[in-house]
Amino acid sequence: MTIDVKTETAALLDKLGVDRAAWSTGDMVSHSPVTGEEIARVKTVSAAEAGKAIEAAHEAFKAWRLVPAPKRGELVRLLGEELRAAKADLGRLVSIEAGKIISEGLGEVQEMIDICDFAVGLSRQLYGLTIATERPGHRMMETWHPLGVVGIISAFNFPVAVWSWNAALALVCGNPVVWKPSEKTPLTALACQAVLDRALARFSDAPKKLSQLLIGDRAIGEVLVDHKKVALVSATGSTRMGREVGPRLAKRFARSILELGGNNAGIVCPSADLDMALRAIAFGAMGTAGQRCTTLRRLFVHENIYDQLVPRLKKAYASVSVGNPLETNALIGPLIDKAAFDNMQKALLAARDEGGSVTGGERVAAASRDTAYYVQPAIVEMPKQAGPVLEETFAPILYVMKYSDFDQVLEEHNAVAAGLSSSIFTLNMQEAERFLSADGSDCGIANVNIGTSGAEIGGAFGGEKETGGGRESGSDAWRAYMRRATNTVNYSKALPLAQGVSFDIE
Ligand code: NAD
Repeated sequence: MTIDVKTETAALLDKLGVDRAAWSTGDMVSHSPVTGEEIARVKTVSAAEAGKAIEAAHEAFKAWRLVPAPKRGELVRLLGEELRAAKADLGRLVSIEAGKIISEGLGEVQEMIDICDFAVGLSRQLYGLTIATERPGHRMMETWHPLGVVGIISAFNFPVAVWSWNAALALVCGNPVVWKPSEKTPLTALACQAVLDRALARFSDAPKKLSQLLIGDRAIGEVLVDHKKVALVSATGSTRMGREVGPRLAKRFARSILELGGNNAGIVCPSADLDMALRAIAFGAMGTAGQRCTTLRRLFVHENIYDQLVPRLKKAYASVSVGNPLETNALIGPLIDKAAFDNMQKALLAARDEGGSVTGGERVAAASRDTAYYVQPAIVEMPKQAGPVLEETFAPILYVMKYSDFDQVLEEHNAVAAGLSSSIFTLNMQEAERFLSADGSDCGIANVNIGTSGAEIGGAFGGEKETGGGRESGSDAWRAYMRRATNTVNYSKALPLAQGVSFDIE
């Protein structure tokens, strides 16, 4: 059976409640990477309209910040309910628009539901400290207040989850959201807005324009970045984008959460459970066709086990199914577009120039049309970490290198510009603990005996160095979305000054 992707997209958008006017005759052409065909024409906003939307969001802020946090949590609870109801359709739309296999499309929506549950609990836990004061008859404490309009800029590869990580937290923290999704995935963004609109219709305490969507290219992202009434921009995408956005936000002293590129590595030690490592490496490196920020890109294998692990890995690579995620049970779907395919081929050529031996990496003709790009994932055995290994290429390429010395491999592990995710496979507790210690992995995520990708929402998510330093999702990431005030209250009849300073006036 051949699925008509365009017709199915229209049916899904109708079911999800997206107004046809938003996607039938607009100026932004939307393609599905599954077939490469045009599936919609989406209406974009102008810079002036974006500015107005931000002004309106600021007005919404004035009212929303006064709604008690647990009540704000109720809205996010309703969003979680609506997402549960929409999971099958929204997950499939993610597969159509981003090319993910069906279980990953559904998994992405599950992540949205999970963060809603987390944020609902959080809405009763936005607490501060009471701190010992040096002055008698005084009390010192911290209070946390809503921050202001939160701008969200998101990447194509997690077209809906990244919005929800930010929106669920921002909303319970008392902030309106204005979202500029990737120009490659506007349809899933329209669907999310429709789902949230249904939650808002069931909730009586929300001001107008609490959540808005700005469909457009990077120029619209720049309006969010430069607008004085946007208090925080959470920007997810390439390091190139972060390099532009970061300084502009810093220039106006706005807050930022930067979630940028990764160049994630794993180390397989002599004591590792190789069956477990093999599965984790396969999912980490090939899953989502290598288009996760946490995709495993560099693998260091100890010389004593290299000849046991690497041939098995190559066998897994050769047998993995690549194909249309809507019609087959393939584990690997398409690359997002031709540019991604070209970048992959360029990196493979550069790796060969550095002495790399490439297995895989070619276009899978049976699955591809002229306009769709399916590739066999590539394993590249490298003599050393050099050339393209030092950079993120957003495609399924795994560079494999042999190591002999643990100290040295730790150094090599950290010798790249990005610092997002990392893992070690070992049953030796000294190696495991060292990897997690101050002179171990320098990444925001460091795992033992699990892969680099597939983080849970309960932990703070993000990375160091050129990954941008931002944290989203669980743990205390909510603090970035709030304004902290230190309050001191004097309930005595005297006015002692701190540090024993005397300043007596007549
Ligand atoms: P991209 O940088 O091309 O685009 C991301 C978003 O930024 C888009 O919405 C785009 O319109 C916007 N943008 C680009 N330049 C801008 C500018 N100057 N001002 C304002 N907005 C701008 O990234 P992509 O190709 O969509 O996504 C892939 C990249 O994202 C990879 O590098 C991947 O590692 C990274 N990523 C990181 C995380 C993370 O959490 N660290 C998560 C997902 C993706």
